[in-house]
Amino acid sequence: MPSDYADVSFWLATAPAYQSNAPLQGTVEVDVAIIGGGFTGLSTAYHLLKAEPGLKVAVLEREIVGFGASGRNGSFAMTLMGLGIDMIALLKGKRAALEGHRYMERAVDRLSELVDEHRLDCDYIRPGFLRMATVPAHVHKIQKQIELCHKLGITGIEWLDREAAQAHVCSERYLGAWWEPRLALINPVKLVREMKRVTQELGASIYEHSPVVEITRGAHLLLRTPGGEVQARKLVFAANAYSHLFPMLRRKQIPAWTYMIATEPLSPQQLEAIGWQNRQGVEDARNLIHYYRLTPDNRLLMGGGPVGLSYGEEMERDANPNAWRHLEEHIAWLFPVLKDVHITHRWGGPFSVTLDLTPALGYLGDPRVVYAVGCIGHGVSMSQLNGQTLCDLLLERQTDLTDCFIVNRRIIPWPPEPLRLGLSLALRSYLQAEDWWCERGQNVR
Ligand SMILES: Cc1cc2nc3c(=O)[nH]c(=O)nc-3n(C[C@H](O)[C@H](O)[C@H](O)COP(=O)(O)OP(=O)(O)OC[C@H]3O[C@@H](n4cnc5c(N)ncnc54)[C@H](O)[C@@H]3O)c2cc1C
Repeated sequence: MPSDYADVSFWLATAPAYQSNAPLQGTVEVDVAIIGGGFTGLSTAYHLLKAEPGLKVAVLEREIVGFGASGRNGSFAMTLMGLGIDMIALLKGKRAALEGHRYMERAVDRLSELVDEHRLDCDYIRPGFLRMATVPAHVHKIQKQIELCHKLGITGIEWLDREAAQAHVCSERYLGAWWEPRLALINPVKLVREMKRVTQELGASIYEHSPVVEITRGAHLLLRTPGGEVQARKLVFAANAYSHLFPMLRRKQIPAWTYMIATEPLSPQQLEAIGWQNRQGVEDARNLIHYYRLTPDNRLLMGGGPVGLSYGEEMERDANPNAWRHLEEHIAWLFPVLKDVHITHRWGGPFSVTLDLTPALGYLGDPRVVYAVGCIGHGVSMSQLNGQTLCDLLLERQTDLTDCFIVNRRIIPWPPEPLRLGLSLALRSYLQAEDWWCERGQNVR
């Protein structure tokens, strides 16, 4: 079934022509059914079939693989979990902060191993990560975070002073930086389609245009789509920001939206002026961060700033002209030479948020059903390893991954509406207010 979904993201708009799989028709029986054809769903299918090649695994995707966040993201495969290591330490303790960081290091490395093993054609590069301080308060914040990392025994992260930071990427706004070589960039749509290829080669059945509209839990798990049904022994919820649409997951997470823009390809003169030495992934240190990278054809992609929220089951928040305008202004603030650059693509997408802004995965009711939620904006690497963790859970293996504090943890439930919206607005306002306080008097755009 030909379909392009070009309006969904820059990545989908610029991807090669795509032939999606046929929807589910009739009744199929499988060992494991997976809801969601993003990184999490495909990685779980991959790890299951690697572990037990004879398994019958079906992935059911509402639209096409990569329709969700996996086909729209900033493409940073990084070690960041939740709002950062200091927040995890504050909320969950220092041991959890270290455990979480180690999990994320492994996640970044797992993606690299997959790319190598299967020669995934996804424009993979590993240029390293810069978290730039753009205001004095963020110098202090980043230095404290690095100090905590070092106290916990974490290596591979260092502080760069103003001159060293500006030698990596040339903006007068940079006052110093967190430097961490362990970050990869990819083309997310190419990656998700390559994961579809590899997973199918291992034997998975992937049904696109197949929304799961009803689930019945009995001796078997029964999933119904408009054209058919799946009888499964085990079930994986890999629907990320759409998870609250299933009654069993309603309180575990909510969707929030982040927005991105892409410029036209920069000219050699513009590139020279911004002096971006090695295509590093760059973020700032705000709560509502800005994140940006260069594409292989030298466009600047920037995301972040204002975050969108919705009420109840509403999922129509992909467009946000205010957020896009903000991002254009922020590009001009960072790089005045780019103030008239033409913006060619604007898009947005939902990410999954738990009430404590920390990821969660585990069993749902009984060991036949597992889920993963709450990667917020850091699921590119994490979802790859979560696939293995979910596989371990399904095969009822206790491993170092299933021992991580994010697995089978207690989740503070989101309240029902209208309280949910009130609480999410309050949380966003708090994060915004903290950013405003750090940036007061600095004329940040
Ligand atoms: C704009 C944006 C920028 C981001 N930038 C980064 C970044 O730079 N780095 C980073 O680490 N993370 C980033 N993220 C987050 C990251 O993309 C996600 O954490 C990750 O892709 C989650 O993968 P997933 O497979 O769990 O979810 P998704 O990719 O969202 O997949 C869930 C799938 O489930 C399907 N689905 C939903 N309901 C049903 C149903 N009823 N039946 C069948 N299928 C269903 C959806 O169509 C969707 O394809 C970003 C997110 C966004 C939106």
